[in-house]
Amino acid sequence: VKIAVPKEAASGETRVAMVPKVADKLTKLGVELRVQKGAGDGSRIPDDAYGENTKIAGRAADIYGADVVLAVNSPSPTNLAKMKKGSVLLSFVQAHQNADAVEAMCKAGVTCFAMELVPRITRAQSMDALSSQASAAGYKAALMAASNLERFLPMLTTAAGTIRPAKVLVIGAGVAGLQAIATAKRLGAKVEAYDVRTDTKEQVESLGAEFLVAEGVKAEAEGGYARELTDDEKAKQQEMLTKHVGQADAVITTAAVPGRPAPKIISKAMVDGMKAGSVLVDLGAAGGGNCELTKPGETVKHGSVTILGPTNMAGELAEHASEMYAQNLFNFLSLILIEEDDEGEDDTSKGPKPRKLAINWDDEVLAKSVLTHDGEIVNEAAREALK
Ligand code: NAD
Repeated sequence: VKIAVPKEAASGETRVAMVPKVADKLTKLGVELRVQKGAGDGSRIPDDAYGENTKIAGRAADIYGADVVLAVNSPSPTNLAKMKKGSVLLSFVQAHQNADAVEAMCKAGVTCFAMELVPRITRAQSMDALSSQASAAGYKAALMAASNLERFLPMLTTAAGTIRPAKVLVIGAGVAGLQAIATAKRLGAKVEAYDVRTDTKEQVESLGAEFLVAEGVKAEAEGGYARELTDDEKAKQQEMLTKHVGQADAVITTAAVPGRPAPKIISKAMVDGMKAGSVLVDLGAAGGGNCELTKPGETVKHGSVTILGPTNMAGELAEHASEMYAQNLFNFLSLILIEEDDEGEDDTSKGPKPRKLAINWDDEVLAKSVLTHDGEIVNEAAREALK
């Protein structure tokens, strides 16, 4: 099987879908691996670090002609058109924001498994790239909050007096939020957290943070995700949060509802009520922002409050984010790369047995994460969104 990894084209993308450690494991399986020249640059991986078993290819055609393409973001329609009918693409796609690419995948007859569709079931945890990238983002969000504050996070008792610990409020206690809480706690802040899924209370408290409750708001939905709130619930949530936002030195928001724009939680009036010099890090920025004043991809000042709207926070931690992502893909590949039948021969001294691509559609992980196959959009939610 030929597997190839392009250089990511999206501006500001620092991650890469393959790292040397994982390349080594793949080539040991007998896979013919190609990485596009310069693909690892943003993650500080020079071409020669991939080792002698990985070929470095210059031309896009040498990459997109492979049996399997591994990418962080969906390739452009032009490059997708170079893919072979029946070949496989593993990548984040976010179909509802990426209609042209999805159309190009269908046209080319590519079987695309979208990493954001991998089900959140125990067996698929090692393939869960949403989680690995959200962990990186949550960690970095807490560091960004800290470094943009002109204050200490921990309590300090010094000869020059006692400094009170900073207050950090984390809104949305999913994977990213929990990592932000843990990181802010390690830095010594006093942390409060809120989520519409009240089940997260226990997880928040186990990290040593205080869980905030908005009476009458409980919005668990299928698969452990949240649902959108009603207007009445939104009002209750705002009322409760306004006071805590006003007391925080840093607010980190991570709220998301799958397939929907980021819920707007922090209004302009709430920012007006924030302490002078405080910081808001909005991880919802890629989905439009959890704060009314967020400008995706920018840092803005509202009075003396700094509002950061990073759209690729995991990319700020490119080395480890790439490493975790590549490992997620390797684990996913193990579902579709099957040893070729060697006609009863069990002599392993000849090295790895070649692998072939085989997709078992009865496998829940494959059936749920496939986006396009055989010229069609097979994921129902994506088909609806792109109608
Ligand atoms: P996400 O990125 O979709 O959302 C982040 C958080 O925002 C969620 O906790 C959500 O409840 C919260 N949120 C949504 N609207 C909100 C609002 N208006 N106000 C406040 N908070 C709001 O979520 P995620 O991090 O991808 O995790 C979703 C769930 O999946 C979690 O329960 C997580 O534990 C679970 N999960 C399970 C597995 C597994 O079992 N393999 C793996 C990863 C995650």
